[in-house]
Formats: sequence, C-alpha cells, structure tokens
Amino acid sequence: MARACDPMSREGVRAVAARDASIQCIFCRIVRGEAPSHPVYEDEHTLAFMDIAPVSDGHVLVIPRAHGATIFEVGAEDAAAVARGAKRVAHALREVLSPPGLMVGQLNGEAAGQTVFHYHVHLIPRREGDALRIHGRGPARPERLAELAASLRAALAKVP
Ligand code: 5GP
Ligand code: ZN
Repeated sequence: MARACDPMSREGVRAVAARDASIQCIFCRIVRGEAPSHPVYEDEHTLAFMDIAPVSDGHVLVIPRAHGATIFEVGAEDAAAVARGAKRVAHALREVLSPPGLMVGQLNGEAAGQTVFHYHVHLIPRREGDALRIHGRGPARPERLAELAASLRAALAKVP
C-alpha cells in the first residue's frame, strides 16, 4: 500500500506541476471558459481561437486542451491532435481570406520568443513583402476578430 510519505513518481510530479501551472495559465483559463476568446474550432482534444494581437488579419492559435508548456511537455497524441486541428483551420483560412501564403509557427522557450507557456501553433496568413514576424504589434479590434471567427466557423463546417 502506498504511504503518504512515498516519493512521488516522475509522472506524478509532472501531473502536479501541470495542474499548478494551469490554474494561472491564460490558455487554460480560455479552455475552462474563465477568460474570453473568439473561438474558431474545437474538438475533444483541441481548441482554436483568434490571436488577440495578430501578426496579420486571420492569425489563429491552435492549442491542446491539456496543459503542457512546450513541445517537450505536451503529449504526443495532443501534439498530433493540434496538427490535425491546424490543418482544418488552414483550409478554412484559405476559404475565407485566400491569403497568398500561410505561415505555421510554434515557439518553445523564452529564447525562441515564446510568451505563453501552454503549447500552441500559430497560423499566420502572409502576403508578399510581409515582414517575417511571429508577434503582432497590438490588440486587434474585437469586432473584426468576432467577424473572422464567425466566417471561419462557417467555413470549417464544410472542411471534410
Ligand atoms: P507565443 O509568443 O507564446 O508563441 O505566442 C503567444 C500568442 O498568444 C501571441 O501571439 C499573443 O498575441 C497571444 N495571446 C496572448 N494572450 C492572449 C489572450 O489572452 N487571448 C488570445 N486570444 N491570444 C493571446
Ligand atoms: Zn495552460
């Protein structure tokens, strides 16, 4: 029988750390409905919503529901689910905005520029001559984010 003073397994330590991190994590708060977002797509394992400070019109983030800070902590199944969700949203972005290009980005660690430590993939529509940026310069108009999210949700309903 396990005793209260048994040292925790490595998995146990990871689970407790993830639970503690998720209490404050802004993306976990969005998953739990405690913070607002403009949702685009959701399934059992993932969520996609408009980036609040987009690099370009149509910048979407895709995240796993489960907290994991970076590619090193996120589960392989969750990473795969995010990739599948990102592909669906990419098709919807093409349908709605027809951008000449679409950048898919994912940052791990402060040195890579990561600012929110809950694994996520950026989908950033791009045009010829756009500066190669991964962060926007300021918040978008909420009305525009709502309008785009609605159009993307409608387009996603038709993605096979
Ligand atoms: P990172 O630098 O971690 O790769 O990207 C984090 C992204 O999350 C940034 O593009 C930033 O604009 C976005 N972001 C930060 N806080 C929020 C928020 O509360 N809501 C939404 N929708 N996006 C956020
Ligand atoms: Zn989180």
